[in-house]
Amino acid sequence: MEGRESLTDLERGDEDCVLRFADGAAFTVSYLAIRCRCQCAKCKPRQENEQRLLEFEEEVARLRVEKPKAEPVGHYGIIFDWRTGCSSGIHSFSHLRRVAEELGISL
Ligand SMILES: [Zn+2]
Repeated sequence: MEGRESLTDLERGDEDCVLRFADGAAFTVSYLAIRCRCQCAKCKPRQENEQRLLEFEEEVARLRVEKPKAEPVGHYGIIFDWRTGCSSGIHSFSHLRRVAEELGISL
């Protein structure tokens, strides 16, 4: 599974983070964007259609911006731990890459 989508570095800022991948691509991605695409059992159902996703995004956007804890999971993902309600979602590298390409700013 090691490939271009492997995350090689994560720099955590206060409101966003910089994700660097094995192929040299780098993106600034806000924590809100990452959280709006969380795949945990609690967050994922809220993205199942456009209407629910919109409501979910509005709800997340109203939360205080929070710098999550980040724990590596094996060599394939990261768990972000937000005190305001989401802590068990594993964000795989390939998922983070899709989020970065969709919602991040390419550096
Ligand atoms: Zn979640």
